[in-house]
Amino acid sequence: MSLTSTLSIIKPDATRRNLTGVINARIEEAGLRIIAQKRIQMDRSMAERFYEVHKERSFFDELCTFMTSGPVVVQVLEGENAVPLYRQVMGATNPANAEEGTIRRDFAESIEANSVHGSDSPENAQREISFFFSEIEIVG
Ligand code: ATP
Ligand code: MG
Repeated sequence: MSLTSTLSIIKPDATRRNLTGVINARIEEAGLRIIAQKRIQMDRSMAERFYEVHKERSFFDELCTFMTSGPVVVQVLEGENAVPLYRQVMGATNPANAEEGTIRRDFAESIEANSVHGSDSPENAQREISFFFSEIEIVG
């Protein structure tokens, strides 16, 4: 087994409700290590570039508006199988379908304002990590 990394975003609905610390506790309790972290305000062009894969989806415009509606905390998480492990800790996209004890079940406001983002594959994780972080900002 080897350590892998994933990109996490604590979304504006969660930073607005002061949930950064409780979400970080869930991450660490799951055995994931926060090896980089910063609080930023995304602008429209950043959000559109980050979510480019979703540009044909009906919710793309609304999603970019939401992701720029307040600060986000972007993070690199490291652990064994970090990508699927963090997806488990997050729960399903729609909080109504998320399992008990997951971040989205406990904190999400809606399918859109669902508190956290996590990469969906190791390849996308690498792309998303280098979108936000330079090498010297990641200390494993
Ligand atoms: P994320 O990529 O944020 O980790 P995900 O992989 O579970 O979430 P995606 O299908 O990649 O879900 O959708 C990206 C984001 O777009 C969701 O997290 C949510 O904020 C928003 N979204 C997804 N589906 C809808 C929808 N039907 N209506 C509104 N917003 C949506
Ligand atoms: Mg996704």
